[in-house]
Amino acid sequence: MSIRINKEKCVGCGRCIDACPGNLLELAEGKADIRIPEDCWGCTSCMKYCSQSALEYYLGADLGGRGAVMTIEKEKDIYNWKIHMPGGETKVISVNRKNANQY
Ligand code: SF4
Ligand code: SF4
Repeated sequence: MSIRINKEKCVGCGRCIDACPGNLLELAEGKADIRIPEDCWGCTSCMKYCSQSALEYYLGADLGGRGAVMTIEKEKDIYNWKIHMPGGETKVISVNRKNANQY
């Protein structure tokens, strides 16, 4: 599974559900839930639509992340991808979404 949901941050708005191209997300007891975790291919669409930073991308050893977790915080057109390392360090990669097709 690539995505996990921080239930404490989720406010149940449902935007991530509409954003998932695989229809993998649903609301359960007022919070987002992933129906078929093994089918998630980590496209991050749901993360970009969440205003609460409630969706976390798990960077396991298979991705070289050693268990780090990536979240996103948005400031207008700037997407700040935060990588929270297992040791407590946080790295930030900032991308202007209007220039995203340059990468
Ligand atoms: S990362 Fe992509 S495939 Fe996985 S739950 Fe989010 S939107 Fe769906
Ligand atoms: S977009 Fe974020 S806050 Fe809204 S339901 Fe999904 S995870 Fe929860």
